[in-house]
Amino acid sequence: MTPLTKILREKIEKHGPLSVHDYMEMALSHPEYGYYTRQNPFGKSGDFVTAPEVSQMFGELIGLWSLDIWSKLGAPAKFNLVELGPGNGTLMVDALRSGALIPDFIKAAHVHLIETSEQLKARQKAAISHPSVFWHSDLLDLDTDPTIVIANEFFDALPIHQYESIAGQWFERCIDWEEGHFTFSLSDKPAKELQPPPDTEGSHILEICPLGINSFNKACRLLQKSGGAVLIIDYGSSEAVYGDSFQAVRDHASQNPLEDPGLSDLTAHVKFPQLIEEAQRYPVDIHGPTSQGRFLERLGIETRAALLSRSATKEQQNSIASDLRRLTSTSEMGTLFKVLAISCNLTAPPEGFGP
Ligand code: SAH
Repeated sequence: MTPLTKILREKIEKHGPLSVHDYMEMALSHPEYGYYTRQNPFGKSGDFVTAPEVSQMFGELIGLWSLDIWSKLGAPAKFNLVELGPGNGTLMVDALRSGALIPDFIKAAHVHLIETSEQLKARQKAAISHPSVFWHSDLLDLDTDPTIVIANEFFDALPIHQYESIAGQWFERCIDWEEGHFTFSLSDKPAKELQPPPDTEGSHILEICPLGINSFNKACRLLQKSGGAVLIIDYGSSEAVYGDSFQAVRDHASQNPLEDPGLSDLTAHVKFPQLIEEAQRYPVDIHGPTSQGRFLERLGIETRAALLSRSATKEQQNSIASDLRRLTSTSEMGTLFKVLAISCNLTAPPEGFGP
């Protein structure tokens, strides 16, 4: 039994079943035993590999994408370059390296990293060298400069509420403790605060991520105030509104999310339609979602791979080719991951979205 199993079990015995949201929040962010307090969750030696950890090409292209946004904002002398949930800091390191092609871009950037894990903050501090880097635990009201926000696999890491539809009403999905195991249960009372489900036939699961919606709205407000762009890369469907996507990964394999909380990464798919609905309330432009594979190809990942391969050994060339496949192929991350951008006050649309 993990220390967190004991803590959660006692909580349930004392106060009744926990919402999926509260279980997920504690399993990820408990200050002592939460998943993000672990030594090294990301990367080949960790539990899962995120795109920036697959290859430097990913962060480099995001750096060039940001550089292009900055120039479409009129190359301001000061702007905020924000990353939500930077993990090991790898994406920002690679982005700042490619962004250094234009020294004025680096000079103008004030880097803001939004991170709650002390362990990961320490890693980011060790990795990123730039004269103006600031850490925050929340996407606060930044000053009035234009803002570029990058979020790779951030929204999927935020706790979700789950609701199940039964006979025309939503009931919150909870987690109970029975016969030595965590089990799913449903709250006794319907969730009256939600719009009723679309039909009474069959059963749907609705997932709502309050922190995700909240952070996204804050980002839209920053754009509305001072212009800029938000880039979200995450896994999820461009269309699906319903479905159970609560899942756990440990040691590169799928796990039961109710087993050994704190030892596996818990995630849920990002609901792109919900984010788009929120964005439509602001005077912003919406781009995508497109697939990660097409986005990276439009930004020129194949050319970057060819350039890197030119001065590489045979073994390195093989690994560059395999990383390229991993990031773009439809059978790997290329289609599962989607890219959505929101922009405001740009002289032309962001790169990567079409035709
Ligand atoms: N973007 C990184 C890491 C993704 S994992 C990559 O692609 O490799 C999710 C990241 O979000 C971690 O850094 C985690 O500590 C951070 N995080 C999770 N919940 C958060 C919250 N509520 N506020 C800020 N950061 C959070």
